[in-house]
Amino acid sequence: MKAYRAAILRFSTDDRTAIYDEDGLLVIGPDATGRQVVRAVGAYSSLAGDFPGVAVEHLPGRILAPGFVDLHIHFPQTDVIGSPAEGLLPWLDNFTFPHESRFVDAAYAREVAIVFLDELLRNGVTTALTFATSHPSSVDALFEASKARGLRMITGKVLQDRHSPDGVRDHTEQSLIDTEALINRWHGVDRLGYAITPRFAPSCTDAQLRGAGELAAKYKDVWIQSHVAENLDEVKWARELFPASRSYLSIYNDFGLMRERAIYAHCIHFDDEDRALMRDTGTAAAVSPTSNLFLGSGFFDYAGADRVGFKYGLASDVGGGTSFSPFHTMLAAYYVGREGQTKPGLSIPPHQLWWQHTAGAAEALGLAGTVGNLQPGCEADFIVLNPRATPLLARKTQQSRNLEELLFAMIVLGDDRLIERVVISGAR
Ligand SMILES: [Zn+2]
Repeated sequence: MKAYRAAILRFSTDDRTAIYDEDGLLVIGPDATGRQVVRAVGAYSSLAGDFPGVAVEHLPGRILAPGFVDLHIHFPQTDVIGSPAEGLLPWLDNFTFPHESRFVDAAYAREVAIVFLDELLRNGVTTALTFATSHPSSVDALFEASKARGLRMITGKVLQDRHSPDGVRDHTEQSLIDTEALINRWHGVDRLGYAITPRFAPSCTDAQLRGAGELAAKYKDVWIQSHVAENLDEVKWARELFPASRSYLSIYNDFGLMRERAIYAHCIHFDDEDRALMRDTGTAAAVSPTSNLFLGSGFFDYAGADRVGFKYGLASDVGGGTSFSPFHTMLAAYYVGREGQTKPGLSIPPHQLWWQHTAGAAEALGLAGTVGNLQPGCEADFIVLNPRATPLLARKTQQSRNLEELLFAMIVLGDDRLIERVVISGAR
């Protein structure tokens, strides 16, 4: 066992509130199955006596916090970040599809997988639900690289058998055979998980969506990920392609692709029937604010989501998103919350922004109590923050009068410089 003495941020398991020990103790050790987990956490003064003989590393002035969970990102778009376009559909055609076609080359996929994981970890992101490309080799590349580092990562081969150019378009029957083979090869190996990954309804034939739904029913603990209701042109197109479905979202439900462990990016242009469908099926939204602001897609309606009561968490959506940094994503989520012209505007409290990128995102994945928190039993993936990492952060955080002010100073001013150390399964 090993222990750390520092300030500690974690979240209540009953609600979304933050728990903060200014002088805390985090004790890490193996559980019955040998996984490195949190064995105890709390105030140093009350816990220290319970662990005689356990080495304690003292980190004065530092904050231990759960590793961030990114609920939606595209690892093959690491190099697409920052590509200007006239909205979503031109961005796909002019930048994203040409780039993703390169992942047919396994060596190239392996190279980008390493850059991608390096960048996630530099930014304190320890778990991600990420798209691969339509090439099975891209999935193998990311799983191999994640396994080598002991990371909890979830990905899947993209399904797109129509309305996609040569080089990324797949074949209906083979795409489903490949998906099932990848599930059997990777799902549940170490900390890896597979996600059935239709790109979005307009890129998939009925037969491909039906096959994906059948796999989702057969492999119930496998994840599902896709996009929905990001932009109005896309919504219109999806409605034209699937006129029998009540809404864009309900296309997915009609093919058996909404359930627990199903995560849909964006979820912007919804009505209350869509929101109720999310809630009733246990489906979660990956809110992607930097991407939505960058592409001018619209604003996620937090008040609507909470009024009806469906699950959501935060996501970078790189390369539509503009940053790997959870601090940039949390700040953009604040802007999106504030917007009050197309929906009710509200100020999301800082601890709630943080919750959406840690414990809330984990809950959306069905991994509450596994990652995204530092409660006893959680896997020992955490970050060490230095709130004095820059001169302005040092000035600002020293003047914080309470936890909300401290968290908001880091959200507004923070980036990868705040992340001093990343610990995966109890190891640096
Ligand atoms: Zn996306």
